[in-house]
Amino acid sequence: MSTIFKKIIDKEIPAHIIYEDSKILAFLDAFPATLGHTLIIPKVETKNFLTVEQETLTHMIKVSHQLGNHLVTKLNAKGLNILSNANEAAGQTVMHFHIHLIPRYDENDGFNFSVNTQKLDLQEVQNTIKGFSLV
Ligand code: AMP
Repeated sequence: MSTIFKKIIDKEIPAHIIYEDSKILAFLDAFPATLGHTLIIPKVETKNFLTVEQETLTHMIKVSHQLGNHLVTKLNAKGLNILSNANEAAGQTVMHFHIHLIPRYDENDGFNFSVNTQKLDLQEVQNTIKGFSLV
């Protein structure tokens, strides 16, 4: 099912586009966490990081790297968070794959990524996860 991002790709609704090529689009997040908060999306619709085709993802990572550096330089940022939420359980609200580039200025700049650490049996976790091999 199409999302609001498809309407941005098709130029049916406006967006502040930063970069575009045949495969992807980058535009400013309409509700920015910090100055310069940018989203990178594939033009082909796919739900999220877990479903995106690898060639598209490779291109998106290349653009994320170069555009991330560009944002940091142009905005005089002190750092950058790059993240992607996959599925509702991880906080995904728009079901069209996107990478967030969030320039960072200091610890109180509006973006709060807090982690509550858990006491887990890491040996048990490793046993559960084992079996991965690259295809
Ligand atoms: P997520 O919660 O990871 O799915 O992120 C979705 C992001 O899309 C949020 O940061 C929203 O602020 C952003 N967003 C939603 N609608 C628009 C829009 N029309 N233009 C730009 N960004 C949008």
